[in-house]
Amino acid sequence: MDVKDRIRHAVEPILTKEQKLRFREYYPEKIYRVERNIGLVVAGTQLCMIVIFFFLKGDFVMEGDGRFYLYLYLYLFLVTVFLIPVYMNLVKRKKYAVLVWLRRSYVFAMCVWVMGITVLDQIHGSGLGVFCYLIPTMAAVLLMSPAESFVIFGGQWMILLMILTMMNINADDLFSSIVNSFFVTVLAVFISMRYYRSMEVEFRDRDIIESQYKEIEKVNEKLSVMVNTDQLTGLNNRRYLSEVIYHKFEEYKKQGCFMEILMLDIDFFKQYNDTYGHVQGDACLREISAIIRECISQENVVVIRYGGEEFLLMHCLPEECHCLGENGGGNSLADCIQDRLRQAGIPRNDTVQDHVTISIGIWRGRLQQSDNMEKLISHADEALYRAKNAGRDCIQYY
Ligand code: GH3
Ligand code: MG
Ligand code: MG
Repeated sequence: MDVKDRIRHAVEPILTKEQKLRFREYYPEKIYRVERNIGLVVAGTQLCMIVIFFFLKGDFVMEGDGRFYLYLYLYLFLVTVFLIPVYMNLVKRKKYAVLVWLRRSYVFAMCVWVMGITVLDQIHGSGLGVFCYLIPTMAAVLLMSPAESFVIFGGQWMILLMILTMMNINADDLFSSIVNSFFVTVLAVFISMRYYRSMEVEFRDRDIIESQYKEIEKVNEKLSVMVNTDQLTGLNNRRYLSEVIYHKFEEYKKQGCFMEILMLDIDFFKQYNDTYGHVQGDACLREISAIIRECISQENVVVIRYGGEEFLLMHCLPEECHCLGENGGGNSLADCIQDRLRQAGIPRNDTVQDHVTISIGIWRGRLQQSDNMEKLISHADEALYRAKNAGRDCIQYY
């Protein structure tokens, strides 16, 4: 990186306009505890100074300029003690726009205090001690934007310059005070900019990580849908049965739900493929899947493409359906599928029937603690076997 690049890198804006707006809400949440503690330390030290000045330097306070020091300590103590609860309240109520102005006001109040102490120190010949350590400290602990720090510290230096030139100080001392205060001010602006920039970088990095995390979550969601879905029909696959439904089944068992398990199988499908080809066979599978979907649209039914041309359906029946009995009645799920399939009339001329038919085997019953999902599915499968033996295109119960 050459010098040009380094300079560009140092002054390049880190955040976009939109990020800047969110950053204004982010940093108070991040620093308010630290700033509150700094406020407490400031108030505590002012109180200590008040005690020291009042009790230990009693004569100085009563007779000399000491009382001005006392006023300044009292002023900063009161301002800090008053502003801490206001500050905390604004953070709590998320009033970030007002908070910006409160923080600026406090920095301004601190600057007034520093100026006052510096002028008093100048009068007593103590130099720029307080100014030299407090200004960089403020820059390091109170977060200010580059513009804010430039205006506040720059403005403060100009005022100090005016006061120093107006005071009766010898030329050598004046020159060294001006030079020293200038470099301290530049240092403070530099520290402040670094602090602000580091917070912006932290925010931007956090933003990048968050958006990448969201992206990964989205991809994960898509993947989990993909691995549990059958590509041809869009129905759930066998993996979904073992990964998701297996756990749900345990819940159903605990609830003692009244369950219906249906095993559907297309009749003479091998022959259909042989007659019409696999592409037409695939289209037939999709059409039957759509019919199943239509029939379950109102209910909470799990549908799985269990094998090549076999479908497994599972659902808990409401209490009033228990009376359906052996033949299920006209409104059962199996009847709905059979009826719709007949209405659709997927044509074929290679069997006795002139349309595609399915056989359905059903197991129904109240779940017991000792029940096991595979066993109940095998019962539905047994019923399906009976449907096939009974001439196909029918429903059989276990
Ligand atoms: P049955 O009435 O006894 O069920 O006779 P069937 O011919 O349907 O029974 P079988 O289980 O012997 O045949 C199933 C056929 O399903 C075999 C295979 O060619 C076909 N099949 C399985 N998966 C697919 C698929 O994804 N697409 C197509 N087109 N055919 C499939
Ligand atoms: Mg089969
Ligand atoms: Mg079949």
